[in-house]
Amino acid sequence: MRLMLNLVAAALIAGTAFLAAGLAYGDPRVVALFGLDRPQGPVVGPDGVPDAGTPVPGHTALAPAPQEAPAEASGLDTPPPGLEEQDQPLGQPKKPAVASTAYRFLATNSDGSPVGYSPCRPLHYVVNSDLAPQGAERLVDDSIAVISRATGIVFIFDGPTAEAPSPSRPPYQKDAYGDRWAPLLIAWTTPEQAPRLQGSVVGTGGSTHFSFGGGPRSFVTGSLELDAPQIARDIDRADGAAYATAVILHELGHVMGLDHVQDPAQLMYGEIGTPDGFAAGDLNGLYELGQARCRKDL
Ligand SMILES: [Zn+2]
Repeated sequence: MRLMLNLVAAALIAGTAFLAAGLAYGDPRVVALFGLDRPQGPVVGPDGVPDAGTPVPGHTALAPAPQEAPAEASGLDTPPPGLEEQDQPLGQPKKPAVASTAYRFLATNSDGSPVGYSPCRPLHYVVNSDLAPQGAERLVDDSIAVISRATGIVFIFDGPTAEAPSPSRPPYQKDAYGDRWAPLLIAWTTPEQAPRLQGSVVGTGGSTHFSFGGGPRSFVTGSLELDAPQIARDIDRADGAAYATAVILHELGHVMGLDHVQDPAQLMYGEIGTPDGFAAGDLNGLYELGQARCRKDL
């Protein structure tokens, strides 16, 4: 039976920028239908409500996050549902040592549950590391491991890719990745290749969610772009690796479904001064995201 799909997709983007006082992140953005919109440009200041920005042609930019525009996409190609989906979560998120409510989700379902990835299947990812600065590749691996522990999500590295980031990346690319949702794309890139990184924006990250009709939404794929030249300039500073790691973790936080918060102690704050990694609020949010529903139907 051919289901009419009421497809809702949002790509959530966060730009980041180095400021004199430390790092600042742009605001997450929500755009419609599998498109990533432009970042805030040269950011930013503390967290705030993003403006609508410049819509990408063919896409509708929405603000503030988290919102999304339902779009009819009955003709959209989708992979067979339930690939690798198990009855139970594959892993267990690490319970945070300290309780905290200092977290926000980019999107929630009507029952209040956060929109995240199904924990009952592995989250595959590929890395375009052609432009990765010397010594920076391992920072992605380390960051993925941190996210996996915090969410219980099992990640599988599918290897390198030549796929370039795109503002309208299809979530299903059968020729490139087979009969499944495309893997999460982590790309070391440049502002020339990825105009969202122009100016002081150093990274963007977000995921695409999917639902049937008005049903619950889940992320099916995502992308994360890192400004390789900019990070290369900073990584040799004494704290350069820590800052780069903070950028990657922050963007992965968006990929998993976290929004910015007002608490400057959290990594999901719009700026960071000292790159200490995830704090209690971030970890509690990731813990909840790790308990998203299983989705045999997607
Ligand atoms: Zn951000």
